[in-house]
Amino acid sequence: MAERYDVLVVGAGLAGATFAWYARQSGRRVLVLEAEKELGGLAASERRFGIDVHLWGPHIFHASDPEVIRFARLTAYFVPTRHSPVALYGGRSYSLPPNLWTMRQLWGVVTPAEARERWEADRVAPPAGADDFESRGRWQLGATIYETLFRHYSEKQWGRPCTELPGSLLERTGLRFTYDNRYFRDPFEGVPADGYSEWVGRLLEGCDVRTGCDYFQDPGGYRALAGLRLYTGPVDRFFDYRYGRLGWRSLDFRHEIHEGTRNVQGAAVLNHCDASTPLTRSTEPALFDPEGVRRRQEAAGLDCSIVVHETPAAAGPGARPCYPELDAANRARAELYRSAAAAEPGWLFAGRLGEYRYLNMDQVILRSLALARRHFGAVPYGTPKLT
Ligand SMILES: Cc1cc2nc3c(=O)[nH]c(=O)nc-3n(C[C@H](O)[C@H](O)[C@H](O)COP(=O)(O)OP(=O)(O)OC[C@H]3O[C@@H](n4cnc5c(N)ncnc54)[C@H](O)[C@@H]3O)c2cc1C
Repeated sequence: MAERYDVLVVGAGLAGATFAWYARQSGRRVLVLEAEKELGGLAASERRFGIDVHLWGPHIFHASDPEVIRFARLTAYFVPTRHSPVALYGGRSYSLPPNLWTMRQLWGVVTPAEARERWEADRVAPPAGADDFESRGRWQLGATIYETLFRHYSEKQWGRPCTELPGSLLERTGLRFTYDNRYFRDPFEGVPADGYSEWVGRLLEGCDVRTGCDYFQDPGGYRALAGLRLYTGPVDRFFDYRYGRLGWRSLDFRHEIHEGTRNVQGAAVLNHCDASTPLTRSTEPALFDPEGVRRRQEAAGLDCSIVVHETPAAAGPGARPCYPELDAANRARAELYRSAAAAEPGWLFAGRLGEYRYLNMDQVILRSLALARRHFGAVPYGTPKLT
């Protein structure tokens, strides 16, 4: 088969779509293959009853890198959000991430000094040499906050006791001695006004896009179509699992429709932090953009909401890989695959599956922009849409 494209991109998640967009901006002919029927990968969304339902768990776009912000504003309109999930434990609700509101709810304290005093008294020194999640949590967060907000949630999330999880999972978790309950501290935070799949569709304008098309149906044929190829699928699959399978945690989702209300939960995201339920989160996507949903529903004579319940699961055949299992064995295996990927002629590997890393959307975009710039040179961006 003759080379009919300059670039082949496998996967229409944000990693592949950003790279494809950049390649098109630089005048390349691009073919994109996507195994699923919808665009957007893990961030995919579908509009139901005027609500953009995130199909694979709540996705809030947040960024601090100026280039990523510029790219986002240039390619989509974002509804500003302020992510502040609420934790449920023992029939009570608590503010997240842990801050002065949380400590007030737990201990009745009001000032930062009072909160600090309670927290100091609550800290449990780890046994010598221990750096498991539980030991670190009881020291870093104090026993009460660890037990109430982190222990059961994390055990459900990872399917293992916290004593068997690495303490490094808590690296970016701190306490705030202020009443600031904004989860992300990035200057840019929002959700695309028309949903993520629409955004990705716009990024891919001008590319040939084949959905429902798995690269492995005809690897030889597709490979021959372009000299430069980007693969954003699971890296172990690409190499036919030659070093064994990389471990993932997956999630199951149950969708519920609620009639006669657009506010079921009072918060877009609830974290289920006790052991009485296998659920970890319940998301009400209408609350990411309540005004947009109200306008669309009133125009269509609708009044309803959707709640998506999330339960962690082992990643088996057919299950969507969600979180890489970052234990020593998987890290070592991932290094072998990364070396194989770096030595593969004509191929680039990107994204959370292609790199086997947990990456947020802004990180995936930043990495794809940098990769594309190395191959296609600088592309003159247009004027960003200032929202
Ligand atoms: C539950 C959950 C919530 C998250 N929430 C946030 C959030 O709030 N904010 C944030 O910034 N990030 C969030 N993330 C991370 C975010 O999902 C990722 O950063 C991003 O979606 C990764 O994009 P990607 O293109 O690397 O991978 P993916 O989105 O997985 O895209 C890869 C694509 O490749 C396709 N593919 C794979 N193999 C083949 C093949 N053989 N042939 C053709 N196509 C193939 C897949 O179908 C998929 O569409 C969350 C992740 C999870 C698990």
